[in-house]
Amino acid sequence: MTPRVLIVGGGIMGASTAFFLAEAGLGDSTVVLERGTVGNGFSSMSTGIVRCHYGHPALVSMALRSRRFFEQSCDLLGADIGFRPIGYAFGAGAVDEDALRRNVELQQSLGAEVDIVPVEEIAAFWPGIESSGISLFAFEAGGGYGDGYLTTQGMAAAARSRGVDIRQRQAVRRLVVSSDGGEVQGVQLASGETLWADIVVVAAGPWSVSLCDEIGVEVPISCHREPKLVLHWPAAVDSRPVLADRLRAQYFRPDSRDTVIYGSTQTDHVDLVDPDRFDSFADDDFVDNAITAIDQLVHRDDIEIVRSYAGCYDITPDLYPIIGRCDVERLILCMGFSGHGFKLSPAVGRLVADLIVNGESSDPHVPTDFFALRRFGEGRSIRSLNPYSGSRY
Ligand SMILES: Cc1cc2nc3c(=O)[nH]c(=O)nc-3n(C[C@H](O)[C@H](O)[C@H](O)COP(=O)(O)OP(=O)(O)OC[C@H]3O[C@@H](n4cnc5c(N)ncnc54)[C@H](O)[C@@H]3O)c2cc1C
Repeated sequence: MTPRVLIVGGGIMGASTAFFLAEAGLGDSTVVLERGTVGNGFSSMSTGIVRCHYGHPALVSMALRSRRFFEQSCDLLGADIGFRPIGYAFGAGAVDEDALRRNVELQQSLGAEVDIVPVEEIAAFWPGIESSGISLFAFEAGGGYGDGYLTTQGMAAAARSRGVDIRQRQAVRRLVVSSDGGEVQGVQLASGETLWADIVVVAAGPWSVSLCDEIGVEVPISCHREPKLVLHWPAAVDSRPVLADRLRAQYFRPDSRDTVIYGSTQTDHVDLVDPDRFDSFADDDFVDNAITAIDQLVHRDDIEIVRSYAGCYDITPDLYPIIGRCDVERLILCMGFSGHGFKLSPAVGRLVADLIVNGESSDPHVPTDFFALRRFGEGRSIRSLNPYSGSRY
């Protein structure tokens, strides 16, 4: 019998899961419940960087699967979702050269098209970085960036055309569980109506925490405020590759002809906030640190900050997501993406659909319970095999 599936959350994870369930033939029995409109959560704020640069085979494999999906998205979704494969350059200093080489070998062994290149090669795009202390780059020609809003919309529209019922302005008040709390049976909407289901997927970003908490499922997820800057660059930057600077934990991603989005990858400072109420701009410390770090990287004083904004990351203790079954039967968790969710979203949707349809992962590099919640209680947090100095990734 085809299971009836309810997905709570119409962000990129809800939309991707719905798409892959529909691909597997469950379109007519899948409903997505979104309290606002599709993509109105943090997916639409995403910088959308796409790359396979990870230090664990499971993550490399998922990122690679996802990148292949983005490459073929026009055919698969029937729409241009804004993927721009302009390349991704990851630079490290001398202290991290060995880790960089090992990570590139790992990525290559899994089929990722990535090479070690000298600094001069990337300096041809980003002049000034020759004397930044970066000694080596990993360059992924097929990396780049996408559009979080268009991607969520594209996946949702394709799911809908395959039978999925996507209901907007349908807030879930609570998950409905059996009297002993051992099994999820459906959801109650804010309107008071109860919808029954065989499987419930919670993909509600940082708002997942309270829904789970109410039924006794504690998910170790905090909501962290993450600022970004938009920089005016006094030159054409739109065809330059995304530039990641591991030494100063920062990145630049072309935005328009002469603007870039600037972000930090520092993981030692956490700014805990309420996802419904937080300052939506960069604070002075962030701006001051950014000015110093940008100067050290490109040695120019004519780059202007034209705008700032902030969104939230739903972060877990090891900064990797929680995906899979938990102690409550028929409940699937899909949350805690810790700032990685865009680039992994197609593989995440596929993984959740696999768990529902086949009970196991179809990716040989991703064990079925690899991202399970219970890993935290069992002391098997996810770690990069070749971590960079000063980084928790
Ligand atoms: C500023 C920023 C930059 C980022 N940059 C990158 C990047 O470069 N690369 C990358 O890979 N990732 C990036 N990310 C991370 C990535 O965007 C997220 O991991 C991903 O979008 C999370 O998707 P989601 O569907 O889990 O959450 P969301 O998009 O937040 O969706 C959750 C949805 O659930 C809905 N919802 C909540 N409660 C309920 C309820 N009770 N009932 C019904 N619906 C509910 C919300 O309205 C929302 O639409 C970035 C994130 C931010 C904020």
